Amino acid sequence: MAHSKALLVLENFIDGKFVPCSSYIDSYNPSTGDVYCRVPDSGKEEVEAAVKAARNAFPIWSSKSPLERSQILNKLADLIEHDLEAFAQAESKDQGKTIMFARTVDIPRAVHNFRFFASSILHHTTECTEMATMGCVHYTSRAPVGVAGLISPWNLPLYLLTWKIAPAIACGNTVVAKPSEMTSVTAWMMCKLLEKAGVPHGVVNVVFGTGAKAGEALVCHPDVPLISFTGSTLTAQRITEKSAPHCKRLSLELGGKNPAIVFDDADLTQCIPTTLRSSFANQGEICLCTSRIFVQRGIYSEFLKRFVAEAKKWKVGNPSDPTVDVGALISKEHLEKVRSYVKKAQAEGARVLCGEGVDSLALPTGNQKGYFMLPTVIAEVKDESCCMQEEIFGPVTCVVAFDTEEEVIERANSVKYGLAATVWSSNVGRVHRVAQRLQSGLVWTNCWLVRDLNLPFGGMKASGIGREGAKDSYEFFTEVKTITIKH
Ligand code: NAD
Repeated sequence: MAHSKALLVLENFIDGKFVPCSSYIDSYNPSTGDVYCRVPDSGKEEVEAAVKAARNAFPIWSSKSPLERSQILNKLADLIEHDLEAFAQAESKDQGKTIMFARTVDIPRAVHNFRFFASSILHHTTECTEMATMGCVHYTSRAPVGVAGLISPWNLPLYLLTWKIAPAIACGNTVVAKPSEMTSVTAWMMCKLLEKAGVPHGVVNVVFGTGAKAGEALVCHPDVPLISFTGSTLTAQRITEKSAPHCKRLSLELGGKNPAIVFDDADLTQCIPTTLRSSFANQGEICLCTSRIFVQRGIYSEFLKRFVAEAKKWKVGNPSDPTVDVGALISKEHLEKVRSYVKKAQAEGARVLCGEGVDSLALPTGNQKGYFMLPTVIAEVKDESCCMQEEIFGPVTCVVAFDTEEEVIERANSVKYGLAATVWSSNVGRVHRVAQRLQSGLVWTNCWLVRDLNLPFGGMKASGIGREGAKDSYEFFTEVKTITIKH
């Protein structure tokens, strides 16, 4: 492809230095459809160099005290925060998300990830038991594991990458990270700050490139004993197979098909705006996004009318416009895939109430070739339809009616995924009953995406294996040993 304007060219970050790569791949600006950046197309050789640097850095980094590491993480958080606007602009351009979302969610959370683990690493305790009759005490000790392989997706690029880097290095591991080839820019920008923050060379290495080449080289590397992966269930299956010969420790944060259950006693003034956000925020490209809304029959018509009227108000357009609510989807291929679900639903007899194929989308001149789509609401979809079973990962949500509590629990659970659910009701007893029975790693009642990073995050069934959070990440990124002392 011909490149008219000067392109941004990224380099791998290995052993504290930026190193060029022998080949590159194009990265697109989703809001214009233009190639604007070139990303290293790393493979085995680059991964080998990065793992070597991480191994060499491990003895010194792992022997630092938690306090020393904590101070460095805090410094890095300060430096990213200082450049928050530049990071937000870059994330919005690279990913297609709105500048407002990048400014208020992605980058602040990346900063918070470092601060949070800088603090939590200071507060862990280990276990001790006494066996008086045997004259023994037992205690556990925890040590960093070694070189951690970190693989992240394109939807929340720096946010999710730092959610892995921060606990990994806080615990004393060194890392080789591979961000998504479609959204590599903010990881590269972060590398520029590592030295100033005091992160020693080799502690954080970043190799850019595709999953098939760079990702798999990392997964298969014998000197990388643990892989923390966030991405699709399909890729996780491949990673599981490839890492099996090495018995690697895996944390897998995967897709979802998240239900919202709206009972007839729900406060719709809160439920409707929140469910619009949970369906369409970040173009619906959040693993926690709602894509099946079950509404109790008594309020179904009213809910639908109000929900559709509000969905139509969401402004789609240039992501750098601060008044825009929905930016561009990540790629042309992804846009086509998301659109194809709407067509399938129509072919099956469902009703598209607003958005794709129903309303027209007017885009600014510079964005005509961008990957945009209107928030789309589909009703009367059968539970067995692919739109109700598969992860669409775009601004599309299905609304269906239900009658009883028992029925809705069964229908909400009847998918292969189990990541996040929301329950809307003013009946506390019901909220508890339903939350207990939903097959879902996270259940939000009368809210969405309110997170306490102390608590476990992760999914059931095809949504993942393992949990992340203060204690859970500490356990994943450390090896525990039980020591017995007899006097
Ligand atoms: P993806 O699985 O295609 O890619 C994720 C990462 O894995 C990328 O860096 C990619 O290059 C790499 N990869 C691809 N093939 C690989 C291989 N064979 N070996 C090693 N690495 C490989 O996912 P995506 O399309 O980037 O992201 C969207 C998916 O991520 C959705 O399913 C979404 O639900 C999920 N997700 C889950 C969470 C969560 O916390 N549960 C959060 C965000 C996104």
